[in-house]
Amino acid sequence: MPSSKFLEAFEQVAAGHPDDTAYFTSRPGEAVSYGELSRASNALAAFLHAETPAELPVVVYGHKSPLMLTSFLAAAKAGLPYAPVDVAYPADRVADILDQIGRPLVLDLSDDGLPCDPSLANRLLRADDVRAAIAKDAPCDPAWRVSGDDVFYLLFTSGSTGRPKGVMMPSRCVDAFMAYFQRLFPKGEHRVSFNRVPYTFDVSLFDIIAGLSQGYALFALETECEQSMAATFGALAESGLTEWVSTPSFIEMCLADPSFAPELLPSLDTIVLCGEVLRNGTAEKILDRFPGVALYNTYGPTETQAVTDTLVTRELCESANPLPVGFLNPEVRAVIRDLETGEELPAGEIGEVHLEGATVSLGYWKRPDLTEAAFAPCVAPDGSPSRIYKTGDKGYLDAEGRLFCLGRLDFQVKLNGFRVELGDVEQALATLDAVKEAVVLPAERDGKVTHLVAHLLPSDPDAPRDFKAGQAVKAALRHTLPDYMIPKKIVFHDAFPLTVNGKIDRKALAAK
Ligand code: AMP
Repeated sequence: MPSSKFLEAFEQVAAGHPDDTAYFTSRPGEAVSYGELSRASNALAAFLHAETPAELPVVVYGHKSPLMLTSFLAAAKAGLPYAPVDVAYPADRVADILDQIGRPLVLDLSDDGLPCDPSLANRLLRADDVRAAIAKDAPCDPAWRVSGDDVFYLLFTSGSTGRPKGVMMPSRCVDAFMAYFQRLFPKGEHRVSFNRVPYTFDVSLFDIIAGLSQGYALFALETECEQSMAATFGALAESGLTEWVSTPSFIEMCLADPSFAPELLPSLDTIVLCGEVLRNGTAEKILDRFPGVALYNTYGPTETQAVTDTLVTRELCESANPLPVGFLNPEVRAVIRDLETGEELPAGEIGEVHLEGATVSLGYWKRPDLTEAAFAPCVAPDGSPSRIYKTGDKGYLDAEGRLFCLGRLDFQVKLNGFRVELGDVEQALATLDAVKEAVVLPAERDGKVTHLVAHLLPSDPDAPRDFKAGQAVKAALRHTLPDYMIPKKIVFHDAFPLTVNGKIDRKALAAK
């Protein structure tokens, strides 16, 4: 099996343009060139190849820094999967991920250190240890590189049963993604893409895979800068950005400020949005604000990477609402299945979107039960055995083959671009002593989820139900959930309304 085409493409750029910047952040002077990234990742790969427990992914804990990207590439060069874990995750969640993987080697590149019990790591290396390993400059054998079905990365995403689940993406899928989506990254001199999204979210891979393989400089915001819109805009003004990649929510936030305009980003010519619904109003605002920019709506779950794209023009905004998520990567097929019978539906009919083809992942790390529930074996149109992922998205294909998404069939929501299983939050609430039962519902405005509301039955019916009690629940949740998953509003009840079938009546609860 030939080794990773992505790594090959990256090495080709590094050999031809060693002095070009590969990655830089908003922290002044924090940058790495292609030549240095190649050399450092080779040296770290040699270390990882020798030191990592067999078959286990390397956990890379941190946020945005050149050493994070170096570590990802090093793992792939050593033939090992990497699992990024962001500093936004609280101790219990990080502990759960390390526990699920099974005592991995952990590269802790954070400023504040690993928040959980370090004995959950087989071995823990801080940034200085990683730098020392790189300084040894040991040789790396290209024959070690990941290839074919070897897992390239492991991304932990919100799981409905209260534990994150690790999506295993093999090397051949990364290559298939790259082969198709490089098109959205025009070639040219001094191309700079916005590596905005945290590494725990698959959208962050768009420019790592399709940009880094073509000589792009990836630009990221470090934590402090990210906290303030003024600092973000200041950094953007200095970045020379030509390609924007983010969720629609993030660009909506930027659009709220009139200075988010071509004067701030004079070289910007391409905007790629992914991860949640792109609303017509947002698209129109972007096209008004940045005339002449190529705007793309793209779609795909972590389990398949992005699989569709469409150029969003003013004509499209006027003729289609919702906007299509686009045409499929020709290596991937969407099958729309009837919600009741499971029959394949013709164009125009609405059902569940199933995806089959070159970028469908291997399933969930050490969770054959979840894998079996969400994936199924199938036969590809050429007769070869293949796999299908049942997305849980409701949608249809039109006569031209464009896919439209009409929302979820389950309890997964997108909140400010983050994927959240309501069951994950409910489970975290249910483990609190003060809570007997919990239902979490999304609050929406104009069809967009604005925040989560937790409806609770308290364990002690006489306990106070005031603002302070709600704050105490939120504070307790911070031990297990990242901030973006914590409900903004807490409502206490004596009993939940029930449907005629005796189930909790979520609709009635939402109206309370
Ligand atoms: P994630 O795994 O975090 O990338 O989330 C995947 C889910 O986000 C999909 O299954 C969809 O429900 C939703 N999604 C992603 N991109 C889009 C899009 N362009 N339009 C509508 N929904 C989207």
